[in-house]
Amino acid sequence: MPTRKYRPGKIVCVGRNYREHAKELGNEVPKEPLIFLKPPSSVVWENDPIKLPGASSKVEHEGEIGVVVGKTLTWVSELDAARGIRGIIAVNDVTARDLQKTDGQWTRAKGFDTFCPLGEESSKLPDLDSLSVVTRVNGVERQRGKSSEMVFSIPSLLAYISRIMTLEPGDLVATGTPAGVGPLNPGDVVEVEIPGVSRVTNPVQESR
Ligand code: ZN
Repeated sequence: MPTRKYRPGKIVCVGRNYREHAKELGNEVPKEPLIFLKPPSSVVWENDPIKLPGASSKVEHEGEIGVVVGKTLTWVSELDAARGIRGIIAVNDVTARDLQKTDGQWTRAKGFDTFCPLGEESSKLPDLDSLSVVTRVNGVERQRGKSSEMVFSIPSLLAYISRIMTLEPGDLVATGTPAGVGPLNPGDVVEVEIPGVSRVTNPVQESR
């Protein structure tokens, strides 16, 4: 089946939403969701190469559960947020870890072209409480997490974001990555899968 090339509006990401991942990078779990943006120009799809920028010597995978917004959401309750979801999609929030540390602001570390591979969007809405996400590099499992392990649930994230910025149909929310982030090297193949829902596989290449 051909992949539907979904191009999001804005991409709102959530940092440190799994306890074990916050710990592995030496961070506390935040009291409120920690959010940042990725530019829509960073999106690529199935089989498109992830290009490692010369500015970084440590690019890492972050497999995540992506939520595609289907309704305009402003100051919504968690219940209305859940009703406003259109689909679920596999996301790789590729990150230049060294630049994330040195820059302070994460725009460059998260924003390079090809740094947001997206799978196909689910045709039906699965049960939000029983999703899992698995990341493999060259077929070896590196990350595994469940939506039930999130610090902030999917509906609470959307409700929180909707009190800051209106979420519009076609926007994407990446809900954070579980423990096990690690490096991507030229020649690797990285896969993020939400079993039974969505999957994206990408080769990794040197850039300029
Ligand atoms: Zn992330």
